[in-house]
Amino acid sequence: MTFALSFQPPRRLLLGPGPSNVEDRVSRALAAPVVGYFDPSLPTAMAEIQRLLQPVMGTAGKAFPLSGTGSAGMEAAFINLIEPGDPVAIGVAGFFGDRMRQVVERAGGRPVLLHAEWGRPIEPDQVAEALQRDPNIRVVGLVQGETSTGVLQPLVEIGQIVRAHDAFLVADAVTTVGGHPVGVDANQIDVCYAGTQKALGAPPGLSPIACSRRALDRMQKRTRPVQSFYLDLALFAEYWGTHNFYHHTPPVSFYYALLEALRVIDEEGLAERFARHRRNHHALVAGIEAMGLTMHVAPADRLWTLNAVRIPRGVDDAKVRQHLLEEFGIEIGGGLGALRGQIWRIGLMGANSQAGNVLFLLTALEQALLAQGVAAGTGAAAAQAVYHADWAPEPPVLAHISLDGVAPSR
Ligand SMILES: *Cc1c(COP(=O)(O)O)cnc(C)c1O
Repeated sequence: MTFALSFQPPRRLLLGPGPSNVEDRVSRALAAPVVGYFDPSLPTAMAEIQRLLQPVMGTAGKAFPLSGTGSAGMEAAFINLIEPGDPVAIGVAGFFGDRMRQVVERAGGRPVLLHAEWGRPIEPDQVAEALQRDPNIRVVGLVQGETSTGVLQPLVEIGQIVRAHDAFLVADAVTTVGGHPVGVDANQIDVCYAGTQKALGAPPGLSPIACSRRALDRMQKRTRPVQSFYLDLALFAEYWGTHNFYHHTPPVSFYYALLEALRVIDEEGLAERFARHRRNHHALVAGIEAMGLTMHVAPADRLWTLNAVRIPRGVDDAKVRQHLLEEFGIEIGGGLGALRGQIWRIGLMGANSQAGNVLFLLTALEQALLAQGVAAGTGAAAAQAVYHADWAPEPPVLAHISLDGVAPSR
């Protein structure tokens, strides 16, 4: 007779584009007792989640998690703001910008595409020109952290342009939230969606979303109700404001985990957390470059959470990643779409953004390349030098829009 064992997934070091590893205290929160949706304990937890989400997303306004992963947030942002036939300007400079285009098309919108090379941000002028050419554009969608390329998209200037045209700015903060300042209010973002499993430090399953007052007003004044009952943001907002009606069964276990992850962030402090992500990013880059490898993105445009490394000529992409996984238990990402086979994507997100992981990854990558007959230099010493360097004073947390003054002092 055989007994079925419970499923035991392997323990990996997740240094790819997400999900990333979750702290034990967050995993333990998942195991807390499930309660019913009218349980008197639930409003307390939900109020705390909303209170702690606000600074992480950089807003004094409404912020709550949608039930569903980051893609649910993307879908909700667009289907709630647009009506069939609406022109929507979309910045496409990577895989997730292109996904925005697909979502807008399915929702009956008319995408107006703003292109940039995969590895460059969209320029404010492109947005200004599109809005001038087509004054009917009511919504502009941009990806703040393009996980497919490693680019950080600056939004403050674009936010001003979009607001001056009385349009709505949708921003994807799935890869920035919890690792970079998102700055919903400072960037004048109207609908900003995120994800829990990247730099926020929780398991996949929820999509924190922030909505401006004017965006919520517009949703309430739609000429026809949004076609999705489940992803109706006005209903979600009402549920999170009053929790006195049944909309859908709240995934309470994920709420517990998100609450614990937000507490971890609160205890660390946002300024320290951003500085940590920045420091480890720079240490990784120093190590990568010391090995003779190159980064895909120019220094001023780089994300701290997702590092795109050019695959050296003659190196087998899949074999290196397989070596890292099988010999070291490390997962990194390959390139998506136009960058398939050209870059590796190394995530340093949330709890995983730490010196030990940077040094381990650099050493493991050196071994994986050696196994391919490629003798790259060693990177660990250069990374160590970054940790020992003096760092410029941290930028103020809530005025954290551009990268100005955030570069390391040397
Ligand atoms: C991961 C990611 C998404 C999708 O999130 P899921 O949680 O996989 O649904 C959307 N946008 C960006 C920029 C991402 O990195």
